[in-house]
Amino acid sequence: MCTLAIHPVWPGLGQGLFLILFVWAGSMHAAQPVPAVWFPDTPTIRHYVWADQPCPGCTALSPRPGWSRMAELAGVSHVQFKAASGESGGHAYSVAPNAVVLSPSALKLDACQLAFLVGHEIVHIAQRHFDEDAIALSVYSGKPAHWTRQGEEAMQLADGNFSLALRVSHLWQQQEQEADWLGALLAAQASECSIERSALAYFRQSGESGGGIAAAHPPSSERIGHLLPFAESAQRLTQREPR
Ligand SMILES: [Zn+2]
Repeated sequence: MCTLAIHPVWPGLGQGLFLILFVWAGSMHAAQPVPAVWFPDTPTIRHYVWADQPCPGCTALSPRPGWSRMAELAGVSHVQFKAASGESGGHAYSVAPNAVVLSPSALKLDACQLAFLVGHEIVHIAQRHFDEDAIALSVYSGKPAHWTRQGEEAMQLADGNFSLALRVSHLWQQQEQEADWLGALLAAQASECSIERSALAYFRQSGESGGGIAAAHPPSSERIGHLLPFAESAQRLTQREPR
């Protein structure tokens, strides 16, 4: 909801200004979709500046309809989807500020399993986990607030610093759990995928390899255990309108 106060100086100008501001406000709403009522609010933490990092060998990928719907449900206005040239990054990963990269084998997965992977990465973007990591690494390093505006610079604090990475690992685990269950719910509403067909099927076929989404994820059995309480919610969302 936008509240606009106008104090016209010249007769007639106020009406013109109102129209301009009305159109502007409308375009702002169009640019930033309203998330689904059940999707958590975006954290109000500071925004870092993230370089649009190159993705060597990647090609642009046209999103499937369900992927765009998941981004809308999460309140994200624009996601870049990219196809990786190989499997070195795992099945799927996200790059700040708004890219989702999928491997060749991920793109061959069953549609619901793939929807879960994409939903998981969209949650990382929507919940601003990159900014959260940059803040946590800075705080645990004893850096003053606002020591840098560059997200990559803050993330580099973890390079080669094992004890710092250990201190932040609890946050990473929380983020992965959040991305798992919210990603499964996004896939449920956008593509009518039950948790059984999306996340659980994905983890069962990936075995105990660590989930395959990226390194440092807990074993698949543990992730399945965290997801089971959300199966019923997902079932209800599969019966809702996609948007
Ligand atoms: Zn993840």
